[in-house]
Amino acid sequence: MLNIVLFGPPGAGKGTQSAKLVEKYGLVHISTGDVFRALDPQSDLAKLAKGYSDKGDLVPDDVTIKILESEVSKHPNAKGVIYDGFPRTTAQAEALDRFLLNKGTSVTMMLSLVVEEDELKQRLLSRAEVSGRKDDADVNIIQNRIENYNKDTAPVATFYKAQSKLTEIAGVGSIDEIFDNLCSSINQLQD
Ligand code: AMP
Repeated sequence: MLNIVLFGPPGAGKGTQSAKLVEKYGLVHISTGDVFRALDPQSDLAKLAKGYSDKGDLVPDDVTIKILESEVSKHPNAKGVIYDGFPRTTAQAEALDRFLLNKGTSVTMMLSLVVEEDELKQRLLSRAEVSGRKDDADVNIIQNRIENYNKDTAPVATFYKAQSKLTEIAGVGSIDEIFDNLCSSINQLQD
């Protein structure tokens, strides 16, 4: 089973590239951010998640890990999964390792999209016009998301690097160029 962690800061292009990878490789796409946004807005869980996400803070690990596990369990016959926006903390990465080990599988690789900070901010502000997301529209919230990424999420790359599973890919250039580079890394692994 192919378990690909697609990693990178907010605005790196994880969602865009996930959609293309899903189509090419027939994988299941799991984005914890999408799952939180799709919850019934009246539910306690949705309200709790929104309390964090509207400020650009991370939803607590225990809640997020449960959501991820329940989402993966919906696809028992998946030939592979793209994890987009998860894990975002080392505790989440450890939980994912344990969870997959229990299923007799493991993270195959982390593909990390590298984009510099000014470019991320521009992209998120432009995306706000179409996404309608409050957390994309406000420079202070964007700044907070990037700071949280640097503080809590960037160490997750070190976690996978220690397992020799990290590949960094430049997240700039055309969507197709970036996609080709992602595919090359995946194909090398399958050769
Ligand atoms: P995203 O759609 O990936 O940008 O996520 C939107 C928001 O959902 C984030 O800013 C967090 O508040 C929350 N979120 C999504 N995934 C996670 C995660 N793995 N851990 C904690 N919070 C998350």
